[in-house]
Amino acid sequence: MASMRAQQPPRIFFIPFMTPGHLIPMLDIAKLFARRGVAASIITTPGNEPFVRPTIDSFNAAANSITIDLVLIPFPPSVHHLLPNGKENLASIPSSDYLSFFHAFTALKGPFSEFILGARPDCVISDAMFAWTADTAAALGVPRLAFYGPGIFVHCVNESLEGQLPRLKSWSDSEPFVVEGLPLHIRMTKREVSAQLSDFTINMLREGEDKSYGVIVNSFYELERDFADHYRRKPGRRAYYVGPASLSNRRQEINEGVTNSTTEWLDSKERDSVLYVSFGSLNEFSDEQLRELAVGLENSGHNFVWAVKNSKREDQELLPTGFEERVKGTGLVIRGWAPQVAILNHPAVGGFLTHCGWNSTLESVCAGVPMVTWPVEYDQFLNEKLITEILQIGVRIERKGKEVVKAEEITEAVKDVMGEEKEAGERRERVRVHAAMAKAAVEEGGSSYRDVDRLVDDISALGNGEPFHK
Ligand code: UDP
Repeated sequence: MASMRAQQPPRIFFIPFMTPGHLIPMLDIAKLFARRGVAASIITTPGNEPFVRPTIDSFNAAANSITIDLVLIPFPPSVHHLLPNGKENLASIPSSDYLSFFHAFTALKGPFSEFILGARPDCVISDAMFAWTADTAAALGVPRLAFYGPGIFVHCVNESLEGQLPRLKSWSDSEPFVVEGLPLHIRMTKREVSAQLSDFTINMLREGEDKSYGVIVNSFYELERDFADHYRRKPGRRAYYVGPASLSNRRQEINEGVTNSTTEWLDSKERDSVLYVSFGSLNEFSDEQLRELAVGLENSGHNFVWAVKNSKREDQELLPTGFEERVKGTGLVIRGWAPQVAILNHPAVGGFLTHCGWNSTLESVCAGVPMVTWPVEYDQFLNEKLITEILQIGVRIERKGKEVVKAEEITEAVKDVMGEEKEAGERRERVRVHAAMAKAAVEEGGSSYRDVDRLVDDISALGNGEPFHK
């Protein structure tokens, strides 16, 4: 390690985007760096304090001398009217109000930049959504690393798609095409990659690529080896694979276990006999879709724990009448926030019906749990490719474009993953091998462990006066 670090630890500012799927891994990553002696600060808005404060406080209390600092910078009053119901986190905002939120979000540039320029950190690790932090860091002459959320596979696909963009424009939404220039043969439909093709995503990517010191990825090299090598081929690029961040930080939660009633319920079930069902923190299924899902789960005949999130429709019942009574014994419904990592790590859980958010994907891999995949938006369709075709640790639910997914399709995929057939066993074995690789990656000497050190060393070396080249 560089000698500079021993004398004066680098100060890193972590700037997460305001949604659980970005806040959770960024906090986990900040903890990783704080454990290596870095002075870490999380910068967010006051409305997100309830989400981050408990984690930071318990980390600081347990660590004694090592601390993470929380900096709260409010939205300027001029955009308060744009915050839907005053909410500052996507998990509490209906998607119909996202646009308004994003307008307010752009106004953070002034106060956030002002603070960063005044505080002069040694490095900024910023969510890619805050594209302008690249300019702020450049003005200070310090490195900025972009954090995108998903793994490097998605990043590589995004780049390839950018090259194909002019031709893609005239293609049909549903006809699969080959994503060019990748190390593996990947076919997608235009509908599946529509979020990656937006001007917003492309600009964000360019910003990260052109002006940043590098990217920080919540993944581990062994999981996405072909794509990590592919990414590295272009000269001058730096990627640090420091994940799965949840694995190094959630031991406590795993050890403490899930809430009593859920634990009791899971304890009463046989090993690998329960399907965990969750669609992340932002899901907004229609009533019709929820009904199909309920019937699909019931008809599968397998045990399930269904985490039903309704933070956007707080006053409404989401499940069909009588459903919970009918499935008593085989199905457990959790309302609100579920302790997902702990549930996935319970020995009774043998499958995860997931929307393929990147954090959920990694958490399932780490727990050695095969997946039933049902992506809904954003990068989730690409994560599904990685899960089902590249890693072969999941089964996709058949879907027809934007139509409601039918109960029969859900039942069939659930039976495939939870069943006793040879393929199910092989899939289970493969995901367990990946779980072991994930654990090895974050342990001392593992690839992700070393990448945290490598980044700290690189930042410290820059602090020692080494020139900062892109
Ligand atoms: N999560 C949780 N309990 C819930 C819902 C979500 O712990 O009831 C966590 C989950 O473990 C993951 C994150 O929230 O760490 C969701 O991130 P992901 O990328 O999977 O999906 P998103 O919510 O961003 O769509």
